[in-house]
Amino acid sequence: MVTAIVGANWGDEGKGKITDMLAQESDVVVRFQGGANAGHTIINEYGRFALHILPSGTFSPRTVNVIGNGVALDIRKVLEELDDLRTWKVPAPRLIISDRAQLLLPYHVLQDTYEEERLGSNAFGSTRSGIAPFYSDKYAKIGIQVADLYDDARLKERLDAALSLKNVLFESLYHKPPVDGEALYRELLEQREELRPFVQDTVQFMQEAVEDGKSILLEGQLGALKDPELGTVPMTTSSHTLAGFGCVGAGVPPASIGDVICVTKAYSSCVGSPHDPFVSELTGQEGEELRRRGGDKGEYGATTGRPRRVGWFDTVATRYGCQIQGATQVALTCLDVLSYLEEIPVCVGYDIDGEETGIFPTTSRLVKARPVFTTLPGWKSDIRGITDYDDLPDAAKAYVDFLEEKIGFPISMVSTGPGRDEITKRQ
Ligand code: GDP
Repeated sequence: MVTAIVGANWGDEGKGKITDMLAQESDVVVRFQGGANAGHTIINEYGRFALHILPSGTFSPRTVNVIGNGVALDIRKVLEELDDLRTWKVPAPRLIISDRAQLLLPYHVLQDTYEEERLGSNAFGSTRSGIAPFYSDKYAKIGIQVADLYDDARLKERLDAALSLKNVLFESLYHKPPVDGEALYRELLEQREELRPFVQDTVQFMQEAVEDGKSILLEGQLGALKDPELGTVPMTTSSHTLAGFGCVGAGVPPASIGDVICVTKAYSSCVGSPHDPFVSELTGQEGEELRRRGGDKGEYGATTGRPRRVGWFDTVATRYGCQIQGATQVALTCLDVLSYLEEIPVCVGYDIDGEETGIFPTTSRLVKARPVFTTLPGWKSDIRGITDYDDLPDAAKAYVDFLEEKIGFPISMVSTGPGRDEITKRQ
């Protein structure tokens, strides 16, 4: 059976922890979209890791990790991350990389950087890892597939075609030097040898894995509200963050996805530009405190180290996120973080032009939304590491019950700490 693990919100919901935990019993973990632009934090017996491109089954010896065709493949990042694992004495992961994945190349990173500079104060807050130019090129049909690396003439031709456009853009719009196509071609010829042992037809691999009844996890990056189609357009990422896209990006039949675990934090956090709409945001001293206490080391980006914006749990956004993900169950993370609060506000509606709504709107209306809060009592006791749901204080259980009722999807797991085993199952 195929299970998708995806985010209900803006990303950083704690998907990596849940995937790492479930990967222990899974045959296959697949990344199906995005690139090295976000990080999944995983804490286990080997240490604390922020995996950017390798799937979260990396630490599970029984698991085959697949970088699917939908991923933006930055070869240098893959090789670096494999090197890091060697340094930490982690056994080499079982890894395969789709021959249909396309390459994220240095000129994508440059274009991303130049464009954010050009936009100045209107920049998207991109991680500048080349993701938007990469996906633009894919749809403009000037992308280069991994398989192209192993056909010299074809690689040269594809590279020349892409660079003939890029270099006009770089020189004329951004007033930057052109990319040296010959040097890049030679670099790719070297990298392809290091990559070769991992490259495979992963579509066939996945089809067989499904037919053989293997347990498969599709691992989403970022969250539902960052989807370029149904998210907060245009402040989104450039690849589809929804479980539905998992079929395309991993090459599995839609009907094989039997379970969609939507991950959400017990409060909100949001990366990106400070201008992105974030209705339940908490600023000032209170925001500082939640940011400092959040996650496992405060709410700071796993890739960029940037402070994440934080806020109270938003039931409007999360309900919508679970709907568009097609959630069959919800994993609520970071409940332990809220233990310091006397009382906990929850955003239960949006006030837009004087009218209250519980429906998540388009961006044009979202930017006008003001949060409507209900306040719940806190529990004021340390719940970190609790593994039996019944051992949680009544107020903590009441908080979970309230969120569940408001979002309308069953919360089946409640996480009480960043470690693999710090989790409770809720019936
Ligand atoms: P992902 O991209 O969705 O995997 O999320 P990130 O790894 O970027 O961010 C989630 C953060 O929350 C990381 O620092 C995790 O270690 C941490 N985390 C996950 N679950 C819990 C939890 O239940 N409690 C606490 N305190 N931290 C958690």
